[in-house]
Amino acid sequence: MRIAILALQGAFVEHQQMLSKLGIDSFLVRNLNDWSQPKDALIIPGGESTAMTRIIKDEELYEPVRAAILAGLPVFGTCAGLIMLDGDHLNTMDIKVKRNAYGRQLGSFETTDTFEGIGEVPMTFIRAPYIESVGEKAKILSVVDNHIVAARQDKQLVCAFHPELTEDTRIHQYFISMIG
Ligand code: GLN
Repeated sequence: MRIAILALQGAFVEHQQMLSKLGIDSFLVRNLNDWSQPKDALIIPGGESTAMTRIIKDEELYEPVRAAILAGLPVFGTCAGLIMLDGDHLNTMDIKVKRNAYGRQLGSFETTDTFEGIGEVPMTFIRAPYIESVGEKAKILSVVDNHIVAARQDKQLVCAFHPELTEDTRIHQYFISMIG
């Protein structure tokens, strides 16, 4: 199994480290040439969704990435990566997202809460979004303080927090089990 990690901007290295801990091969995608390699799944990391959107378009990756996800390539988006899948960005997942949703004071915080199918997991939020609503096809996996912070739609998994910044590998393992 080989997982592509979008490395235009943001916290892609931490995902790569997480995957290597799990013994999973991965490669970084910065341009179309990288993208052309065979892959079983894609991770879109946290960072800044406005910058990521600009670069994905400049590199002419927007259309091929979107097409691959719509064709069923499993994808895992964390934080800005979650925003990238919503209706205003790649538009592959039926979710409505509120960016920078916790305001300046609570922009960054850590907590522990329930993730469906896993149990209690540590969660690191950094200027995080939350999901305001999910469409019929999406399933809510985690709610923190009445806000949806993780969801799944077919082979698309999103978290508003950063599992790659903790020592806990279970959410990455959950994604790997989705790849099949
Ligand atoms: N605030 C960022 C955005 O709106 C997301 C932050 C993150 O990925 N840690 O894109």
